[in-house]
Amino acid sequence: MKKNAALTPFAKAQAAVLRAVTPLPTVRLPLEKAFGFVLRETIRADRPLPPFNRSAMDGYAVRYADLAKGVRRFRRAGTLEAGNAWRGKARPGECLKIMTGAPVPAGFDAVEQVEKSKTGGEYVELFTEAPERWQHIHRMGADCINGARLIAPGDPLTPGRVAVAASVGAASVTVTRAIRVAVIATGNELVDTAQEPAPYQIRDSNSRFLLARLAEIPWAATTFCGVIQDDPRALRRALAAAMKKNDVLIVTGGVSMGERDHVPGVLTECGVQNHLYKSAIRPGKPIWFGIKGKTAVFGLPGNPVSVAATFREFVLPALRKMAGFGVAVPPALRLPLMFPARKKHALREFRVGCYVDGGASVVPVPGYQGSGDFVSAARSDGLIVIPEEARELPAGTVVEFHPWNF
Ligand code: AMP
Ligand code: MG
Repeated sequence: MKKNAALTPFAKAQAAVLRAVTPLPTVRLPLEKAFGFVLRETIRADRPLPPFNRSAMDGYAVRYADLAKGVRRFRRAGTLEAGNAWRGKARPGECLKIMTGAPVPAGFDAVEQVEKSKTGGEYVELFTEAPERWQHIHRMGADCINGARLIAPGDPLTPGRVAVAASVGAASVTVTRAIRVAVIATGNELVDTAQEPAPYQIRDSNSRFLLARLAEIPWAATTFCGVIQDDPRALRRALAAAMKKNDVLIVTGGVSMGERDHVPGVLTECGVQNHLYKSAIRPGKPIWFGIKGKTAVFGLPGNPVSVAATFREFVLPALRKMAGFGVAVPPALRLPLMFPARKKHALREFRVGCYVDGGASVVPVPGYQGSGDFVSAARSDGLIVIPEEARELPAGTVVEFHPWNF
């Protein structure tokens, strides 16, 4: 039997996780609380945008017909500021002083900027060279018509979309409710950051990493359930309690083949139905995933870079699907490798990499010592994907790059 035969290929493994999770219910949130959440309704324009012919400059509104005839000296008929309407009529040979954002009154169909004018008494001279109809006017409906679909279900409310929603009066929006995520670390060697470790102990860094990653996600409400010893009874108690109250449970450590790796056994005893154990990837091979009721449970390996990689490749897509994203798997970049890379095995490898050349290419982090080396990994911008079949990747090979920031 081939050495990696029991390992699920990455694509199948990720698909198995995504198949098992579904979008959570929706809530109605005030717009100011909804930033980053995923919209579950359609937001439409409630009027054309812009809603009126809007002056794009501080200057003078005139009739294009006058400019076209060669008229450059205009009688000033009034002034119009943003937030006001003008009741007068556009007459031949007349201009209206107008500010950016003010509605260009009917009859006027060109604006010249104040920089290209000279005033003298009640007259204004314009230095327009090649007049165009509608110049410096952002026309009504140019951006979208009334009723246009502006944001679709499955779109996250980015700052730009929050602005769009605000502009059409969506004071509250229907979004996927926050996902409750619990984090547990397990390992007899682990102590808390504030504690002095014995020579044979280490400080728990994985929970801090996961909590920080989750803190970046606006729609994740995270609870840290502490560091648990590699003791089946203690683990059972902690895992069962966390699963009761959360939509997602992330455990790190204790999933491999060591005598103290109790997580798969305990999760199975707790009634979690296993959908994935071990994938043909490096790092992160022993990943465990299952479902109990409506709770998704991830057992991530303890090595810090494995945690980062499996979070990015499995947990994040699952969270995004639960959050209602139209596209669950975060988009990948395709960038050339600046230095060559090689590997010996048939696994899909996720190697920590950095942008070089201002993001035009990527390199594997120099001096990286493997999946325990979170110091090197902390210098990385994301993961370089080295496909299963690849062995030698010459410099210049275009690779998939999965940035930490999605
Ligand atoms: P395990 O998957 O439990 O066999 O752990 C693999 C490696 O990751 C071991 O060297 C552990 O000491 C280390 N490790 C496990 N959990 C953590 C953690 N929470 N923080 C930092 N390192 C960890
Ligand atoms: Mg362990």
